[in-house]
Amino acid sequence: MEDGMSSDEDYYSDRDSLDGLENEDSEFHCTPPKGPTTKVITKESLLSAQREDLRRVMDLLSLREHHARTLLIYYRWDVERLFAVLVEKGKAFLFDQAGVTVVEHEGLESPLGSTITCDICMDDVPSVEATREDCGHCFCNNCWTEHFMVKINEGQSRRIRCMAHKCNAICDEAVVRNLVSKRHPDMAEKFERFLLESYIEDNKRVKWCPSTPHCGNAIRIEDDEFCEVECSCGMQFCFSCLSEAHSPCSCLMWELWAKKCRDESETVNWITAHTKPCPKCHKPVEKNGGCNLVSCICGQAFCWLCGGATGRDHTWSSISGHSCGRYKAEREKKSERAKRDHYRYMHYYNRYRAHTDSFKQESKLKEIIQERVSITEERDSRLRDFSWVNNGLLRLFRSRRVLSYSYPFAFYMFGDELFNDEMTKEEREIKQHLFEDQQQQLEGNVEKLSKFLEEPFDQYSEDKVMEIRMQVINLSVITDTLCQKVYECIENDLLGSLQYGNHNIAPYKSKGIEKASELTACWKANNSDKYPPSDCGASELDRPSGSGSSDESGCSSRKRARKDSPGGGLFDLNLPAEVIDRN
Ligand SMILES: [Zn+2]
Ligand SMILES: [Zn+2]
Ligand SMILES: [Zn+2]
Ligand SMILES: [Zn+2]
Ligand SMILES: [Zn+2]
Ligand SMILES: [Zn+2]
Ligand SMILES: [Zn+2]
Repeated sequence: MEDGMSSDEDYYSDRDSLDGLENEDSEFHCTPPKGPTTKVITKESLLSAQREDLRRVMDLLSLREHHARTLLIYYRWDVERLFAVLVEKGKAFLFDQAGVTVVEHEGLESPLGSTITCDICMDDVPSVEATREDCGHCFCNNCWTEHFMVKINEGQSRRIRCMAHKCNAICDEAVVRNLVSKRHPDMAEKFERFLLESYIEDNKRVKWCPSTPHCGNAIRIEDDEFCEVECSCGMQFCFSCLSEAHSPCSCLMWELWAKKCRDESETVNWITAHTKPCPKCHKPVEKNGGCNLVSCICGQAFCWLCGGATGRDHTWSSISGHSCGRYKAEREKKSERAKRDHYRYMHYYNRYRAHTDSFKQESKLKEIIQERVSITEERDSRLRDFSWVNNGLLRLFRSRRVLSYSYPFAFYMFGDELFNDEMTKEEREIKQHLFEDQQQQLEGNVEKLSKFLEEPFDQYSEDKVMEIRMQVINLSVITDTLCQKVYECIENDLLGSLQYGNHNIAPYKSKGIEKASELTACWKANNSDKYPPSDCGASELDRPSGSGSSDESGCSSRKRARKDSPGGGLFDLNLPAEVIDRN
């Protein structure tokens, strides 16, 4: 972020003008390639990832690399969009907008041994100590170097313009590199890094993995930015807002919810607003009803408004000089509403937490189940296949996750904060019933699935195990379908009829959050122990990290968790549980 664009006004005005084209190029969208397309870009593969896109542009337009890069930076590495502009507006427009000048100025070359006058410093310098840019402007190397240094320091490495007045051309990166490295090798390095990282920083499709401590990877998506991904470090996150994966909550809902949960002041405020310490024993006392004479369990009566101890026969009129008269019925109403809002929040929060906590409990089940499997395997039984129990567990984790995040979703969907103006009270009630019906069905089946998975099947007869197996398989299919339905309900029935431009929700993935795969083009043997390809033997543990578990969401702990897990594909199934089970 050092190389921020904020200081470059030109850049922003350029981008604004670009946005005007937004709707015009829609017909030029290419069909995305099939299969999992999310990629992990490591430090090692960044260069080749960038090369890929550069190559395409260089080949199509027969350009040199630095021109292709200038174009791509201008179009935020969106090759399709760049091509669309080319088709629609032509090459000249494309180049002009981005500041690319591909005119050869052979005729202008000064003969060797001659001198030129630099228009910046007005010095006469030998032509070998001056440099002519592609746009034709020629200045002395000292002036160029100064200019480049200033721009790099200002964080504008990616778009250094020519020094000439009103010249829009972007300087050749080779010239910058060459001149800067002669005098300031450290700055040249910085410049190089900025150019390279532009592929991440300026690219709509690429984002740094949000893990802390940072794993050093970036993730590139192919199509829809509203998706959830897993980095090769194990970090699962929402690509759009970079917080933990939170669907079926929208990014905005999740942001609001996370903030609400963080704000302990919510609770603190409520306690301050709704209880007062007893003047005798100092326990907080809650006010009951409208009467401002409250009494504590210790027997002490006191005035709610001033907190002063009173006799039991305290009345307002009987205390002279008392300021309690400022009490207004309005204030009472306000605090009643705050109380109601708080109870509403607690209702959703408690359920959200309950599922998050169950999830943590069930994560431990994994090991217990492993043990039960090996005990049963040792017995001389005809039970050989235990994929159903592992698949059932995966299904349980995924469904729990959906359930857990469905509560903050409902909190905002049916609350006053976001959609108050978009639904009538009746509409909202109908929608709420519809959703809660789905949610409760899912909840019921998830609990059943959980119950069956907790059965100590290693102590059961074969027939009983077979019965549990059937239940687990059935419930796995049912919960998967119900999760799908919850997402469909949200998309079609709840948000579909509203103008919900800023409530995009990552689609439901039956197989769990997609793991980004390593960019294959740059796979080097010496990396293999550091970054295993994500498809081999890594365990899958998609868990919602609750609001109170920030210590667990770190990258490093997940890395450990993966290493310790058994290989052999037990927990790394690329097919939905039920599909594998039928085989
Ligand atoms: Zn000069
Ligand atoms: Zn120029
Ligand atoms: Zn990562
Ligand atoms: Zn998000
Ligand atoms: Zn008391
Ligand atoms: Zn009273
Ligand atoms: Zn009083």
